[in-house]
Amino acid sequence: MENTLAQRYVDLQRKIAQSAVAINRLPEHICLIAVSKTFPACDIQALYDLGQRHFGENYIQEWQEKVFRLPESIVWHIIGDIQSNKTRLVAENADWVHTLSREKIAERLSQQRPENKPPLQVCVEVNISGETQKHGLAAGEVLEFCRYIKTLPQLNLRGLMAVASDADEITVKQQMQKMHALFISLNNQGFQLDTLSMGMSGDWLWALEYGATHIRIGSALFGKRNYAQK
Ligand SMILES: *Cc1c(COP(=O)(O)O)cnc(C)c1O
Repeated sequence: MENTLAQRYVDLQRKIAQSAVAINRLPEHICLIAVSKTFPACDIQALYDLGQRHFGENYIQEWQEKVFRLPESIVWHIIGDIQSNKTRLVAENADWVHTLSREKIAERLSQQRPENKPPLQVCVEVNISGETQKHGLAAGEVLEFCRYIKTLPQLNLRGLMAVASDADEITVKQQMQKMHALFISLNNQGFQLDTLSMGMSGDWLWALEYGATHIRIGSALFGKRNYAQK
């Protein structure tokens, strides 16, 4: 059978639902974010036409070139690092930001979020692997940062996000377990977090075992990315 985008989408949805049931989780509590970076608006439209609503983008400029050609009912998740000169575009056009880790960016996003829109839904990015090339806060810095986010009126703190290492199963699962523990610990300290954003094409199955509520899947849906053509 031809391996089309539509086919991959239907297969992935089925696999997610089956995997959820196998670990006693409700499929409707798992949000699939289709990560469309480097892929054209027509691919996003094709998945939209099949019912997909949540899409993730990393590069603000690239996303802006696509966003105005696509349906308004798309829920946009920003999952890449945000420079301060791009916060306005994000505050005005995104629904979610998964990658908060700097006070200055958080403050600008809150200030620039239009008052006629609901608050921006945000997650704090945790550098769970400790790799220096990765973004995010160390686990020990998260509590204080979450307290700060709660003071910003146009941000709604929803949870935590992480990118696990590209490593063996045991290492990745240890990182995911730490994320889950941090998530529980924050809720025990009075935060009402309902979002644990972790899991990508190569490790989403493990992420579901460790309580991920939002999985961000790119290449397993859209195919291999070609950064040169971006
Ligand atoms: C690109 C990206 C993804 C999707 O990665 P795939 O391995 O293609 O599924 C998920 N999360 C983040 C933060 C990304 O940058």
